[in-house]
Amino acid sequence: MSLYLEHITQRFGQTLALNDIDLEIRNGEFLAILGPSGCGKTTLLRAIGGFAKPTEGKIRMDDVIYSGNGKMVPVEQRDLGMVFQSFALWPNMTVRQHVEFPMKSPKQKHLTEAQKKEAVDAAIENMGLKPYEDRYPGELSGGQRQRVSLARAIVGKPSILLMDEPLSALDAELKISMRRVIQDVHRMTGATIIYVTHDQSEALAMADRILKNGKIEQVGTPEEIYLHPQTEFAASFVSKCNFVRGQWNDSYFKVMDQSLIYDGPEVAQAFKNHGLFPVRPEQFHIVKEGKGIPATVTNRQYSGREIHYSLKCGEDTFTVYAGSREQYEPGEQVKLVYQAS
Ligand code: ATP
Repeated sequence: MSLYLEHITQRFGQTLALNDIDLEIRNGEFLAILGPSGCGKTTLLRAIGGFAKPTEGKIRMDDVIYSGNGKMVPVEQRDLGMVFQSFALWPNMTVRQHVEFPMKSPKQKHLTEAQKKEAVDAAIENMGLKPYEDRYPGELSGGQRQRVSLARAIVGKPSILLMDEPLSALDAELKISMRRVIQDVHRMTGATIIYVTHDQSEALAMADRILKNGKIEQVGTPEEIYLHPQTEFAASFVSKCNFVRGQWNDSYFKVMDQSLIYDGPEVAQAFKNHGLFPVRPEQFHIVKEGKGIPATVTNRQYSGREIHYSLKCGEDTFTVYAGSREQYEPGEQVKLVYQAS
């Protein structure tokens, strides 16, 4: 089943939180909604979940209208599970009682008691919660609590899982291991996941497609957005990006004040209109001699496998990630050579 958003607009007084969003979310897809604070991510999730009625537009699951055309299907009748950043657990309920809770919904009345127990056991087992099933939230770590939220969300086997910054309350290392847990949930359940985050690396690591801003800035796979951004905002929001200035001639780009030509058949029109060529930090190589953009090293930061350099090129400061065997010192004059990845 696919979820369709058609012309979804949400106004709060003067604030336009969502502006004419059109989107098809395919069955089984992992869609990350990425964007800076205040861009409307939570508002979009709330509209899909049925917590808020969009000012305009229609949301439908295949042919079933969830909201629009004067209809508004309540939260509990939508085929959804939800996981929030704040865990939303009850202090006086055990792990098992949390996971049992959705099974009490009228939506599950077609199941026998034995089938319900089987579903609860499976969700607890799959989330690695068996040893903790009789504990209360106050007796669990942050990661274990988020596993309880996940178990509670998946126990009813919803077609869609909504996740609102589910990892933001966890520390850096736990975030990485919980990413794997969420990817496992995706594989295991086959559910569509709509995942809101402002963390670029999280979205790039996990998503099938990324959507940005109250207006859709770009929809694409992480690779497409990383390597073929459609706008300057999309390019620099997902990761660092250098914008080389120059002139475009069809698919060829002449670097300003240099006799250097870059071939860029896939570079988006927005960059061409602005006389820019986007270059990721690892697509530039630093050389001492040769044909490249002259630059001066201004800063170097060692980061294990690579060194992050800042370089001054005329008015611009560029970032380059180089192997840790390539050593350049601040003040050194070098050349930057572009190599498409
Ligand atoms: P964050 O990452 O900070 O949670 P977000 O992208 O989820 O941000 P939203 O919470 O969706 O952003 O808010 C989008 C805009 O709508 C913001 O300008 C916010 O102030 C406004 N907004 C959200 N809910 C309401 C409300 N109930 N009443 C008035 N304005 C609201």
